[in-house]
Amino acid sequence: MTISKKIQDAFNKQINEEFHSAYIYLAMAAHFDEKNLKGMGQWMKTQAKEEVGHAMRFFTHIVDRNGTVALDAVEKPRAGWKNAADIFEAALRHEQYITGKIHALVTIAEAEKDRAAWQMLQWFVQEQIEEEATADENATKAKMVKDDPAGLLALDKALGKRASKE
Ligand code: MG
Repeated sequence: MTISKKIQDAFNKQINEEFHSAYIYLAMAAHFDEKNLKGMGQWMKTQAKEEVGHAMRFFTHIVDRNGTVALDAVEKPRAGWKNAADIFEAALRHEQYITGKIHALVTIAEAEKDRAAWQMLQWFVQEQIEEEATADENATKAKMVKDDPAGLLALDKALGKRASKE
């Protein structure tokens, strides 16, 4: 079934959201790398790569259904972070925002009676549960350690062990 204009436009917007997510995490990675918190930087770079993977799922879905991919300018990410707790809190809030976007896409797919888009979106519904849970864990731990050097180094080491999923 060829993709409808409504789903195509909504998916193109989501491609942009996912690239914007990658940009946000890359900006966070740069901050951590500059502070020599290379484990946290590594974690953020891995996250940024995953976001590009998310964008590509929407990209492929549009192309496979004879639609047209329309890439838009990516919004500049925020810079000037206070500390790790500030960054991980912002990451959590961003994932909550993305979950809202995914759920809105499911609502559009339901209204359009687009089973293929609906099915494809279920992966994202599940993924966002994981994304929020991880972001919440990181935010809680970063808040706990605040600016304590020993705590920050331990968290940096732990986050540096993250392996890429895709
Ligand atoms: Mg994503």
